[in-house]
Amino acid sequence: MSASPDLELARRLRDAALADTLAYELTAAIGTELGPRLAGTRAEARARDWAVARLMRLGFANVRIEPFEVPVWVRGTELAEIVRPCPQPLVLCALGNSGATQPGGLTAEVFSCATLAALEAAAPEQVRGKIVYVSHGMTATRDGSGYGEHGPVRWHGPSVASAKGAAALLIRSVGTNRHRQPHTGIMRFTGGAAPIPAAALAIADADQLERVVALGQPVQVRLVLTPCDLGSGTSGNVIAEISGTDSAAGVVLVAGHLDSWDLSTGSSDNAAGCAIVTAAALRVAAAGRPRRTIRVVWFGSEEIGLLGGHDYIRIHGAEKHAMIAESDLGSDRVWRFDSKAPASAQPAIQRIAAALAPLGIEAGSTDRASGSDIGPLSSRGVSTIELRQDATRYFGLHHTADDTLDKVDPAALRQNVAAWTAMLAIAAHAPEELAVPTA
Ligand code: ZN
Ligand code: ZN
Repeated sequence: MSASPDLELARRLRDAALADTLAYELTAAIGTELGPRLAGTRAEARARDWAVARLMRLGFANVRIEPFEVPVWVRGTELAEIVRPCPQPLVLCALGNSGATQPGGLTAEVFSCATLAALEAAAPEQVRGKIVYVSHGMTATRDGSGYGEHGPVRWHGPSVASAKGAAALLIRSVGTNRHRQPHTGIMRFTGGAAPIPAAALAIADADQLERVVALGQPVQVRLVLTPCDLGSGTSGNVIAEISGTDSAAGVVLVAGHLDSWDLSTGSSDNAAGCAIVTAAALRVAAAGRPRRTIRVVWFGSEEIGLLGGHDYIRIHGAEKHAMIAESDLGSDRVWRFDSKAPASAQPAIQRIAAALAPLGIEAGSTDRASGSDIGPLSSRGVSTIELRQDATRYFGLHHTADDTLDKVDPAALRQNVAAWTAMLAIAAHAPEELAVPTA
C-alpha cells in the first residue's frame, strides 16, 4: 500500500483519462446545439438551461443557475473602406461596447500610431475629428504573454482616443491570426470618455492600411458600425456539485465559462474549458466519493468583464474554498503547472506535480497562479492552481469567427482531461489542509 493513496489514485485515473471521449462530446455539443452564446442574450439563457439538463443527466448534485443582471451590447452592421488615396474594402469587427456611427457611416482622415503609448503622447489637435488607428507587435507565444502585453491597446485605446476628441478608433486585432478574421473583445469607456465607434481590423487589413499610410498622402476611411446597447439583461452561473464526505475541508472549485463571443461557437473559448473540468470531475467521482465537495462552475458573462466571477464572490465569497482552478486558455496541451497555496498544502502540490510530469507538464511557479472568472476570488488570496495550456495557436483563434470545433485537437483535449483528473483527484482527496488560513 502506498503512503499516498491520492497519488496512486491520480496516476490510475490520469492514465484512464487519456482515453476520454466525454470532453470532446461536450465541446461538440455546446458548439453544435447552442451556437454563439453572447453574454446577457437569449442564446446565453438557452445555453444555461441546456447546461442544467445535461449536468443533471451526467449525475451531478445541486445543479442550479445563479442569475445576475448584466448590460447587453449587440453587434450591428460593420463595414469599412479606404476612400482615398487607394479605394478598397477593409475587414473589421466592432469591439464589445463600441459606440455606433450614424447609419450612413462616418468618413474621416486617419491618424496612425504605432503603439498605445504613441496615442497617449499625441496632442489632441492631431487626433480631433480623426479616425485613429493603433498598431502593436503581438506575436504568438506558448505562454500567451503577448495578450497581457498588447491587450491594453484594446482595453484602453478607445477611451484614450475618445478623450482626445477622435471620431473613431481602429486597432490592429489583438491576436495572431494571419487570415482575414478580426478579433473582437471587450473594452470599456472610462474616465468620462464618450462612446465612439471602436473596431479591430483583421491583421492582414491592418498591414494593408499601414502600407497605404506609408505612401505619405492623407488617408481617408469610411466606417459603418451600428452596434447598440439593449440595456439590462439576465446572465447567470451554472453550478453543479459532487458532494464530499468532509464539509469542513472546504470546496474544490473547477471552472470554465459558458458564454462566448458572438462571432463563432466559442469551441476553444470556452466550451472546451467547461468540458474538460466536467469530464475530470466525473472521473474523480466515479472512483468513489471524494473528501472535499467538487464544485463545477460554468460561468456566465466572462467575456464582458468577468461578471460571473464577481457575482460568484457576492454569493459564495465567504465559503471555505480549499482550491480553485479554471481552464480558459484554449484546448491545446497543458505544458506547465503553477500554484499558489499555503505551506500546509505543499506536500499535496508536490504530489500533483509528480502526477502531472508524465504528461509532459513541467512544474512552474509555486507562488503565482490565477484564472479568468476565478481571478477576483484568487486575488483575495484563495489557494489556486493553474494548468497552463500551450497558447501558441490559441491567440490565432481567440475571439474570431474561426473559433470552431474543427480547431479542437481531440488528442490534446484528452491530455487536458488527464491533467485535470490527476490534479483534481489529489485536490479533492488530499489529507492536508489546502486552504489559506483565515485571519
Ligand atoms: Zn475565455
Ligand atoms: Zn474570451
